[in-house]
Amino acid sequence: MNKRDNKDAEPPPARDKNSSDKGGAKTAEHNEAIHVLNLYQTAEKIYTRRLEGFYRSLRRWAWIPMLAGYFLIPWLSIDGRQAVWFDLAERKFHIFWITLWPQDLPFLAALLIISAFALFTITNLLGRVWCGFSCPQTVWTGIFIAIEDWFEGDRNKRIKLDAQPWSVDKIARKSAVQLCWVSFSFITGLTFVGYFNPIRELVSDLFYLSISGAALFWTLLFTALTWANAGLMREQICLYVCPYARFQSVMFDSDTLIVSYNQNRGEVRGPRKANQDIRETGLGDCVDCTLCVQVCPTGIDIRDGLQYECISCGLCIDACNAVMEKMHYPPGLIDFTTENTLKNGVGFRWLRPRLVGYFSVLALLCSLFVYQLSVRIPLEIDIIRDRSMLYRATPEGMIENSYQLKINNMDQQTHQYSISVRPVVEDGADNTSEKTEPFIYLGQSQVEVAEGEVIEMLVRLQIPEQQIEQSNTAVEFIVVSTTTPTVKNTEISRFLAPARAAY
Ligand code: SF4
Ligand code: SF4
Repeated sequence: MNKRDNKDAEPPPARDKNSSDKGGAKTAEHNEAIHVLNLYQTAEKIYTRRLEGFYRSLRRWAWIPMLAGYFLIPWLSIDGRQAVWFDLAERKFHIFWITLWPQDLPFLAALLIISAFALFTITNLLGRVWCGFSCPQTVWTGIFIAIEDWFEGDRNKRIKLDAQPWSVDKIARKSAVQLCWVSFSFITGLTFVGYFNPIRELVSDLFYLSISGAALFWTLLFTALTWANAGLMREQICLYVCPYARFQSVMFDSDTLIVSYNQNRGEVRGPRKANQDIRETGLGDCVDCTLCVQVCPTGIDIRDGLQYECISCGLCIDACNAVMEKMHYPPGLIDFTTENTLKNGVGFRWLRPRLVGYFSVLALLCSLFVYQLSVRIPLEIDIIRDRSMLYRATPEGMIENSYQLKINNMDQQTHQYSISVRPVVEDGADNTSEKTEPFIYLGQSQVEVAEGEVIEMLVRLQIPEQQIEQSNTAVEFIVVSTTTPTVKNTEISRFLAPARAAY
């Protein structure tokens, strides 16, 4: 059991989330009632009312690019391959024009850190707008509710239908809802799996019933999860599962925009006639119609103050503004505002230490990320000495070492590489002595490697025995693209020779 606000206060009478009871005048005392949350109670189904308004439209406009992006991106191709493809089998992540390899994991980690900081910054600035406008849980739940609304009707009709005994009409409506939910969930699951398996092949395999067991398993699993999250659990995910709701308050300050009810203006709340002079009644602007509660997807009453359940969707603002318009009162009884504005009447402040701090860190991280990405070399080489033999003396009087050279072309185009070797000192500076010739390189000096391919080859180094100056020399292998000289990588290995007192 979780008690908030005032532990000494008496618990309020249980409130039916779906009640549209207009009741009598409530007092300010009522608003201070504590909120009791029993983790073991059966979740009450929330029947949201559909009311058009500015924030509802804004949400729809925010959803369109997100949904279009999610469903269409896997179908885009670049140079004949899927534009965004997390190829787990080959351990390569293709993200448009960039291919990330396991070696590039720090880039992915950096991307996650940047996303987290972007979320912190936006939360400090605009509260939980991510939850209300962009979170997949909110978007998918909104679509599921729209489907329900389409087949079963608006709030009151849905409440009535659920209370009715089963009939042909009820079975038909409920079946249609479930059919649409499952179909939409299946498309969602299939698209998700399509980010990991080429989606065109996936859909074609599904069509010809030749889909692999693993792909089918993951598709069905994500179908079930989507259906359960958006169809059954809905706001329960936000209330009990999502960790973000728990720590969002850490990012808030008194200048964060939050959805708030203006208590000074709204109280004492109570019903009145539309043309009644408010000064005669002694009431505030809130007519206690409870429309703000009826539209709320998490079923809370924003008039009770800021609650962690509030996802800042703004639907209660739309509902209340519609009521204010009807009553010929100014809008904004519920509005996006700040604690500072409500308490001290000061306007929105951009320049505040925490926000400046978040912005600075975010800008720094983004700049570093872009810089690192721009200097990233899409070529990896690895050189391994033949450990079975330190060196080999040839009949021609040469000392020879063998190496396994591995070239990994991490670019998105084929490269022709040239390979060369030079002796170096430990810090990588050229160590070719005036009296010695550089090492003789025996192996392919030019090699073509296709995009995303790794090749391995055996190479040898030789030096005339009389020219050996030391028994252990650092040698640098240089691999450079002949077409793009900036694509170059080097690795230092050792050349071992017999120890001689004369050196
Ligand atoms: S209180 Fe208002 S803003 Fe918060 S979740 Fe409910 S409807 Fe959305
Ligand atoms: S919608 Fe506005 S007027 Fe109606 S109960 Fe909510 S705050 Fe009061």
